[in-house]
Amino acid sequence: MTDQERFMKEAIRQAKKALKLAEVPIGCVIVCDGKIIARGYNRRNTDKNTLSHAELNAIRKASRVMGDWRLEGCTMYVTLEPCQMCAGALVQSRIDEVVIGCMNPKAGCAGSVLNLLDMPGFNHQVKITKGVLEEECSSMLSAFFKELRVRKNLQKKISPSAASQSDETASGDPSGSSGTAS
Ligand SMILES: [Zn+2]
Repeated sequence: MTDQERFMKEAIRQAKKALKLAEVPIGCVIVCDGKIIARGYNRRNTDKNTLSHAELNAIRKASRVMGDWRLEGCTMYVTLEPCQMCAGALVQSRIDEVVIGCMNPKAGCAGSVLNLLDMPGFNHQVKITKGVLEEECSSMLSAFFKELRVRKNLQKKISPSAASQSDETASGDPSGSSGTAS
């Protein structure tokens, strides 16, 4: 196993913590000098907070460890391509590199919808590496959304009104339910 795969494995472990909370399984770690200095996972529904994406949770912790808002010399390993908010924060943090598990065609901002990490007009560009343990990262997400659909259909059969209330869970999906599932 390469170092990149080893760190992505740890990001996947974080994603599984999100899964335990019935959150969309997205996880990440931040590595500095070959050591993990921060971990994060998606807690958006749990925290009832738009800002509680895996990447932002990890950036907050890494800054505490580094004693600096600058994450120069650090690399983030994240299971899913970052959204516009997280990609923006990564540029702001001046992190060196982002290693991505699988891409997010409907919402990703490391090249899918747009590439905020590598805009020549900004004062910092982030190196991007894609496709590390891609299969494992994407199958974890597609399994989650498949189960969500099954559960929703079941709920619809039992109680049609309750099922419509749970629509929020699926529409709040950062990856777009069919995007990464395919
Ligand atoms: Zn995000």
